[in-house]
Amino acid sequence: MASKTKSKIKSEWNLGQLYKSANDPQIDKDLDVAEKAYGIFAKKYSKNTKYLTSEDGLVKAMKEYEALSELPASKSAFFLHLAGDLNSFDEKIKSKANLVSQRLQKIGNTVMFFDLNLSKISTKQQMVFLKSKKLQKYNYHLKKIFENSKFLLTEPEEKILSLKSLTSSSMWTKAVGSIKSKQTVEHKGKKISIPEAESLVRQLPTQKERLELQNKVMDSYYSIAEIAESELNAIVTDKKINDELRGFKEAYDSTILSYDNDSKTVLSLIKTVTDNFKISKKFYEVKSRMLGVNKLYYADRSVPVGKTSSKYSYEDSYNILLELFSRTDPKFGEILKTFVLNGQIDAFPKVGKRGGAYCSPHHNAPTFVMLNHTDSMNSLSTFAHEMGHAIHSEFTKSQPVFYNDYSMSTAEVASTLFEYFLFYDLFEKMSDEEKIVALHDKIQDDVSTVFRQIACFNFELEMHNTIRKNGNMSKEELAMTMNKHMKSYMGDVNFGDKDGYFFVGWPHLRFFFYVYSYAFGQLTSKVLYQKYKEDKSYIEKIKQFLSTGSSMSPEDTFKAIGLDLRNPEFWKNGMKEIENDIKLLEKLVSKSAKK
Ligand SMILES: [Zn+2]
Repeated sequence: MASKTKSKIKSEWNLGQLYKSANDPQIDKDLDVAEKAYGIFAKKYSKNTKYLTSEDGLVKAMKEYEALSELPASKSAFFLHLAGDLNSFDEKIKSKANLVSQRLQKIGNTVMFFDLNLSKISTKQQMVFLKSKKLQKYNYHLKKIFENSKFLLTEPEEKILSLKSLTSSSMWTKAVGSIKSKQTVEHKGKKISIPEAESLVRQLPTQKERLELQNKVMDSYYSIAEIAESELNAIVTDKKINDELRGFKEAYDSTILSYDNDSKTVLSLIKTVTDNFKISKKFYEVKSRMLGVNKLYYADRSVPVGKTSSKYSYEDSYNILLELFSRTDPKFGEILKTFVLNGQIDAFPKVGKRGGAYCSPHHNAPTFVMLNHTDSMNSLSTFAHEMGHAIHSEFTKSQPVFYNDYSMSTAEVASTLFEYFLFYDLFEKMSDEEKIVALHDKIQDDVSTVFRQIACFNFELEMHNTIRKNGNMSKEELAMTMNKHMKSYMGDVNFGDKDGYFFVGWPHLRFFFYVYSYAFGQLTSKVLYQKYKEDKSYIEKIKQFLSTGSSMSPEDTFKAIGLDLRNPEFWKNGMKEIENDIKLLEKLVSKSAKK
């Protein structure tokens, strides 16, 4: 558990560089300044509409609009979210955060008309603005506004849809989530929660025990399947209505648009991965041999094949990453060093601190990284992952304010790339026995991030299309369809009818098609790593990608460094890496069997 040893390097956030506390009067002062500036802007441009018809008018308005975004308005919400994550018991922070977010919402609403008016100008006028040299800097930003405008309704209609989404969607998923969180199963005379039981299934030593506990979890899901059936039918139908009103054709179109991807790329990714499910099937074949079982059950899918004994304290981890990052590119090392010195990493688990790990960037404040380091190999790998996000964020800060964030689909490219830098570096130095365990774990992670998520996408698509066509899908149909798609990527694995009721608890299904971004990120970073391995000077191209932010679409970002994501060969190259890893694993296993 928590590492009690005090580390010699800084291991706590210094949030004082943002505000002194939740009571700091500077919070309200900053909001007052923003409120005033937004108000002046709104008053000016709700009357003066020259920006809708003249290049010079728009340049002037965009400059002022950009200046608004640079005000530290949302810095207060950023600070309170970080402070709240460190101390979930502090009610003062919670109430202040609520008040601040209400104020920010109002401030944002005052200028909502600006983008909306821009989105309504004629196609002819749009072309004039997009061709304008004076507006070059804002070109991609405007292009996105115009593209989105095709699917926007009028302002009052937008308001109704947004208000109604609470009752027709989010309250449904919240209800099922809360019912699920109260479910328990009995294990060895003790009542345990579903997440606890699910993680325990992975650790039980025999297939019989795993199957027994898995069935209890599925029984519990089955007992609430009726309500989850109603929930999914309701939210999918609600989405169908919205899509029809807005003019989206396919169920996945709005997700792809919101991640700045184009359909051709995403469909090529889905098809290429689906056509290559033989790779993940091969993995489960090898895994079943390694576990010494006749046939795997669905419950066996994440069982480890051994343990790694290596321990990495936070300080060790820092030193390993600092040496590795500096060797890869001096700038990477510098960023890590500054983060530690400046108190931008909170390393250890603490009472009241939230679990998990994340990186939280802000355009006019330092980036903060949260870890819950427990001295394991996994913790070290998570550290590398989050620093990948952090380094991406720091490079992106070179962009103007409209472009200094990044799409969901490129976020995970950076983080997994830094994980690969670490993995292959450590792998070289391992014994054959350690290599088997580490490589198995890595392939398992790849399989669930790439193949499982795409199988999930295929399930979602069938669910949406069936409900659109037939009006409803029963829980039995949902369960059967779930099993069908899970089988499609796992191959010759035993599935019980109950296993399909996993649909009740899978949160991803409620976010509609976002799962493709996992496969997108993982396969792209595999190709980047491969290029880097072949030629170390490719790091310059990687830095170019890291600096692009959202100034171009993900497709164009990678095209600029010579990668064509619209071509299926690109995705095949990424998968080839996983295939090679599986071959290497087989070789290591048979070598160790001969000993
Ligand atoms: Zn991540």
